Amino acid sequence: MLQNIRVVLVNTSHPGNIGATARAMKNMGLAELVLVEPRSFPHPDATVRASGADDILAAARVVATLEEAITGCALVMGTSARDRHIPWPLLDPRECGQQAVRQAAEGGRVALVFGREYAGLTNEELQRCHYHVHIPADPEFSSLNLAAAVQVLTYEVRMSWLAAEQLPAIPEKMQSNLRGDQKVTADELELFYAHLESTLVEIGFLDPARPRHLMSRLRRLYGRAGIERKELNLLRGILTETQAVARGLPHKRRDK
Ligand code: SAH
Repeated sequence: MLQNIRVVLVNTSHPGNIGATARAMKNMGLAELVLVEPRSFPHPDATVRASGADDILAAARVVATLEEAITGCALVMGTSARDRHIPWPLLDPRECGQQAVRQAAEGGRVALVFGREYAGLTNEELQRCHYHVHIPADPEFSSLNLAAAVQVLTYEVRMSWLAAEQLPAIPEKMQSNLRGDQKVTADELELFYAHLESTLVEIGFLDPARPRHLMSRLRRLYGRAGIERKELNLLRGILTETQAVARGLPHKRRDK
């Protein structure tokens, strides 16, 4: 189950933090590390700080964009040390662990996303996430070291996993009803947002010159809804039909 949960580090500056992250993950039983454009990796400092978790470093994937890093994920949680302009559904680390384990148990892939040492995650990156996670540190000094933040969240994932292990196993018949394969992934959702945005521009609801956070607000709304694949197809169908009408094309149903 823990294999469904990956850690994503965005633009990490210090290779030592990558090594310390690998160690924190391995301690808690996680294995999948994805690095979005790390400044220097592989690096001896990473290996030293991993102290024994070299297998995680060796298997780490380096990718160019956050989008690639979260491909295939049904649940994406982004961490933030401070408040952002548009409030997003916010979890504490315990709730984050519970959500991650619940999703992973249903067969959905989960990403825990961590930001840059000097600047965290951008608003755009945070808006790609279903939830934001904040470690409730002292507000006067709320920014943890990157690998320390990874440790806190992966510890909570492990605690939730251990608690779930105590429960009787879910019979296989019920597992197939849990619909892991019907979960919409982050990349499918991105295609939907692109379709939604172009449709809203086309019908004149969204003015690209004055977007007024409309797409952010819609992302928050749809992200909260936990859309399933069939529902996404329905929404895509509505958009396609809306575009057809806006373009003066004949109506599909009347056509038949
Ligand atoms: N100066 C940055 C701090 C980045 S700390 C900022 O103001 O955002 C590096 C990373 O560690 C963050 O991007 C986040 O992933 C994680 N982190 C640090 N403190 C955290 C906290 N209190 N809650 C959640 N994540 C935290």
